[in-house]
Amino acid sequence: MGHTDDKTPDVSTGSPCSITRPDLPQRAQGEENAYSNALAQFDKAVSHLNLKKGIVETLRCPKRELSVSFPVLMDTQEIKVFKGYRVHHSVVKGPTKGGIRYSKAVTLDEVRALAMWMTWKCALMNLPYGGAKGGVVVDPKELSFRELERLTRRYATEISVLMGPESDIPAPDMGTNSQVMAWIMDTYSMHKGFSIPAVVTGKPVEIGGSLGRTEATGRGTTVTVLEAMKRLGMDPSNATVAVQGFGNVGSVVAKTLHEIGMKIVAVTCSRGGVHNGKGLDPHDVLRHLEGGGCVYNFQGAEAITNEDLLQLDCDVLVAAALENQITSKNADKVRAKILAEGANGPTTPEADEILKTTGIFVIPDILCNAGGVTVSYLEWVQDLQSFFWPVDEINRKLQTLMARAFESVMECGAHYKVSNREAAQILAIQRVADAMVIRGIYP
Ligand code: GLU
Repeated sequence: MGHTDDKTPDVSTGSPCSITRPDLPQRAQGEENAYSNALAQFDKAVSHLNLKKGIVETLRCPKRELSVSFPVLMDTQEIKVFKGYRVHHSVVKGPTKGGIRYSKAVTLDEVRALAMWMTWKCALMNLPYGGAKGGVVVDPKELSFRELERLTRRYATEISVLMGPESDIPAPDMGTNSQVMAWIMDTYSMHKGFSIPAVVTGKPVEIGGSLGRTEATGRGTTVTVLEAMKRLGMDPSNATVAVQGFGNVGSVVAKTLHEIGMKIVAVTCSRGGVHNGKGLDPHDVLRHLEGGGCVYNFQGAEAITNEDLLQLDCDVLVAAALENQITSKNADKVRAKILAEGANGPTTPEADEILKTTGIFVIPDILCNAGGVTVSYLEWVQDLQSFFWPVDEINRKLQTLMARAFESVMECGAHYKVSNREAAQILAIQRVADAMVIRGIYP
């Protein structure tokens, strides 16, 4: 597979980002550091590949990192200072692509990890992008609508040195949505003097967004779950599903699996959730949320914690919340047959080792949740050509690309005799390394 016999000179010394660089987290930092986890996954996958040390060191390191501090005028006329980041992990395969996260838990290391995972995700899906991620340390629920708009427009301006339809294309992630993307698109366009819809994806359809983008991550996850069941000879009509995280991803997975006759036995949000062995109708839970309720006080089911949900005896566990949910502390208690990683980084490398011994079929995050960025790519293509496709065409393309990527991960896993995660990472890393070698080292 791929190019390993390149003539590129090795750059093992003098690298700006050697493996022992002290300001980058090493494994000693522990399971809770997402970047340290991303690096541990990378190291494991790369050990199967015959890549030059300088190539490995380049791919191990973020290409560029922007940290910004900026003031926002609050409704009270007080000025508050917020911290934000935009990290480009790799620019080898094209412009960088990746979401923007608004959360109190955002750190530079988290953004670095998420950017690196975007590189592998895009490469795995054969999208012509490198990986990026952005984040602002803020709880968007604590801001008024206008404060959120001002914060977004200012952050967009701060990162506009990197952003552009041909250089770096943001999208929604945790805590952001299509409205936030609309403000970013408008801010960027105002600075340029004309509308540039292709600068972000996940926009409202009215301003150049794609049909099917909002549901794309969940739909893509469902495609991979069904592919996994086919492979394991499981019958979807009798299968039980537990969903951690009933947000944009988890709720769509629950709805689409429910529609094909699977039984959704439990759902949770960050504050806990509900379990009903007879099955829940996700539409009822969504109506309850729209009426101002929370997942955990949905009637007609027993309350459970997130920890309980992970340990349920079910066929499919969908981890669609956030990082580091399945760790060395609880991995041996996971009893599902399939783990579908709708979130980025829900399983730590330590937990992966435990899951290997329990035989669970893991659909790794960079495959499982790749539907979002895949339809983002379709949105970007539609914006660039100013010609838009109907939703069934988008969904058909998504289905084809997800199923193809699933198959390629299975083939790679069989070839290298490795776990699904290692297979997905091996395939992605090899593709980026190949591109790097073919392009050559400048100058
Ligand atoms: N934030 C999503 C992800 O983690 C989507 C990124 C995108 O569409 O660019 O994959």
